[in-house]
Amino acid sequence: MFISAFPAGPLAANCYIVAAEDRAAECVVVDPGQDAAERLSSLLVQHDLVPSAVLLTHGHFDHIWSAADVARAHSVPVYVHGADRPLLTDPAKGLDPALASQLSALLGQANLEEPADLRELSGGETLALAGLELSVEHVPGHTPGSVCYGLASGTGDEPVLFTGDLLFAGSIGRTDFPGGDHAEIMRSLERVCRDWPDGTDVRPGHGPQTTIGRERATNPFLGDIPGR
Ligand SMILES: [Zn+2]
Ligand SMILES: [Zn+2]
Repeated sequence: MFISAFPAGPLAANCYIVAAEDRAAECVVVDPGQDAAERLSSLLVQHDLVPSAVLLTHGHFDHIWSAADVARAHSVPVYVHGADRPLLTDPAKGLDPALASQLSALLGQANLEEPADLRELSGGETLALAGLELSVEHVPGHTPGSVCYGLASGTGDEPVLFTGDLLFAGSIGRTDFPGGDHAEIMRSLERVCRDWPDGTDVRPGHGPQTTIGRERATNPFLGDIPGR
């Protein structure tokens, strides 16, 4: 398993490059956000990787900004949950009015066309891409169409889970944007903690990596959530 990550844009959304092994030819790209395209290109060249797909954890602009451009450059599909699909072309829908008006100043710079090859997810799928088997888990709450992407055997023997803005080291996704739902994100977190063992290597949408076990033990938002 090869995973490379870098924070992109003013909100530092993590963009991940994931390949089945160190010398793989193909990879998937998770959440190519704002200003990610250039850094992504140089990492792909450096590691001699070609993307097979772009995977989006949810539709917020800081995660999807470069998705259409990256997909077009490599002629690959973009995967997103159906409930967040409208955000790809209307990012202000997912923001409160103040943020939306700040964003509108930037919108001229973005390519907000829907990717030519868009694959809608509903959760429960297994995607076979770039030699990887990625499970898709629908985890609404931060947005209606938030998903996690999981790899059963990722780093060493431990699974890897790309959690987007569901779960961070020490925190969870905010639910005060349109479409957010606190009760729902708590149910999603309970499911994820039930479905994934404590050793699971968590790669969040912002900030450093962590594990399910560490978050269950120390994350104040997970309080009484039982483990697997
Ligand atoms: Zn978000
Ligand atoms: Zn985010």
